[in-house]
Amino acid sequence: MDSSFIESSWTQSDQPFEIPLRPQTLTEFLGQEAVRKRLEIIISAAKSRKEALGHCLFSGPPGLGKTTLAHIIAKAMGSHLVVTSGPAIEKAGDLAGLLTNLKSGDVLFIDEIHRLTKIAEEYLYPAMEDFSLDLMIDSGPNARSVEVKLNPFTLIGATTRSGLLSAPMRSRFNIHLRLEYYDTHTLQQIILRTAQLLHIPIDLPASQIIAERSRGTPRIANNLLRWVRDYAQAHQIPSVQTQTAKSALEMLNIDEAGLEEMDKKILTVIMDHHEGGPVGLNNLAAAVGEEPHTLEEVYEPYLILQGFLKRTPRGREATTLAYHHMGKKPQKRKME
Ligand code: ADP
Repeated sequence: MDSSFIESSWTQSDQPFEIPLRPQTLTEFLGQEAVRKRLEIIISAAKSRKEALGHCLFSGPPGLGKTTLAHIIAKAMGSHLVVTSGPAIEKAGDLAGLLTNLKSGDVLFIDEIHRLTKIAEEYLYPAMEDFSLDLMIDSGPNARSVEVKLNPFTLIGATTRSGLLSAPMRSRFNIHLRLEYYDTHTLQQIILRTAQLLHIPIDLPASQIIAERSRGTPRIANNLLRWVRDYAQAHQIPSVQTQTAKSALEMLNIDEAGLEEMDKKILTVIMDHHEGGPVGLNNLAAAVGEEPHTLEEVYEPYLILQGFLKRTPRGREATTLAYHHMGKKPQKRKME
């Protein structure tokens, strides 16, 4: 076997639910150097002071490693991680239950923190600042508030839409860290790491092909790798090389720029039905059959990064590059 292969065989089961793909330490976490360096400093400083880590806010598109970093931080601090999400906290009481159960130094991770209700948000402010809660007891004329002391804890908030976070909420985080899309080289390293963990024999060129189509996102890279593995296994191909990776990805209709069906649908609607735009978000979402916030959080950032889409005050526009990529002639109006 070629030495660039990761030695293995298909016959080994990957115990799908057991193998932790999530990196466990900052050293194992590939890419995002600036974020990693800042975390290393604040973690070692907090540990030497024997204090809880300051509250951290992670922002960036889905699948870039926000939850993974929360796990890594809790582990590095030797503390327990409690995971919840903005939409899961319906009443202020839900939050009170979570907060009062935290032990000293614990990490509370709130995913999609921009979707917390206003009431829950206001409840969090004294908890974040003074580690105290104002609990309302009784209702009607007997209603009164009692202050409850909390153990010092670290709040880690994750958001795909930091712009939607209220200013008071944002200002209560000690550190803001923005995760960026990964470059192809780093994604390739992540794919090779996952391949090793899941015992997938793959060569370097094939891993590069998958990395290029992963939209800068480790979660997508891992999912594509699993799909390519299944494809190879179904065709009884012993190891993944360029042609296998290409054929498997072609079946998913992912092109060489990483655009999938929905991306192409978005661009086609703007080009064919709206003369290249501008078209409003809600209009576009209805035309492609997707939720407006999913378009904004999942699809648009990558299309914008690739230079295929522009967000303007009047709506979304397809760029000349997008026309070329889709093999269409730019509208006359767009050439003016
Ligand atoms: P988010 O919370 O930002 O949506 P996650 O932390 O859940 O993203 O990451 C998605 C997947 O990608 C995880 O299974 C994790 O294993 C993998 N992953 C994310 N970032 C990295 C990284 N830097 N190195 C290796 N794997 C990563």
